[in-house]
Amino acid sequence: MNPHCARCGKIVYATEKVTCLDKYWHKGCFHCEVCKMTLNMNSYKGYEKKPYCNSHYPKQTFTSVADTPENLRLRQQSELQSQHDSKPGPQ
Ligand SMILES: [Zn+2]
Ligand SMILES: [Zn+2]
Repeated sequence: MNPHCARCGKIVYATEKVTCLDKYWHKGCFHCEVCKMTLNMNSYKGYEKKPYCNSHYPKQTFTSVADTPENLRLRQQSELQSQHDSKPGPQ
């Protein structure tokens, strides 16, 4: 029986399987929680059973508070919001 991907929940077949952090992932689903950069067994850093890239590994001291995963998410949301707001209306 094939395991399910920890990211997308779909079945992972042997050819695309990454076994890491006690879970199974599609190669394409094994990416940084923050920037979505695709990772591999050598480049990932695990934190709380989630993969991170070198620069977003949470235990690292951030140069700016704005770089935390939560703040990044909020910033992306507000950017989407402002893009939406600045759309020119039908004229
Ligand atoms: Zn997946
Ligand atoms: Zn990252």
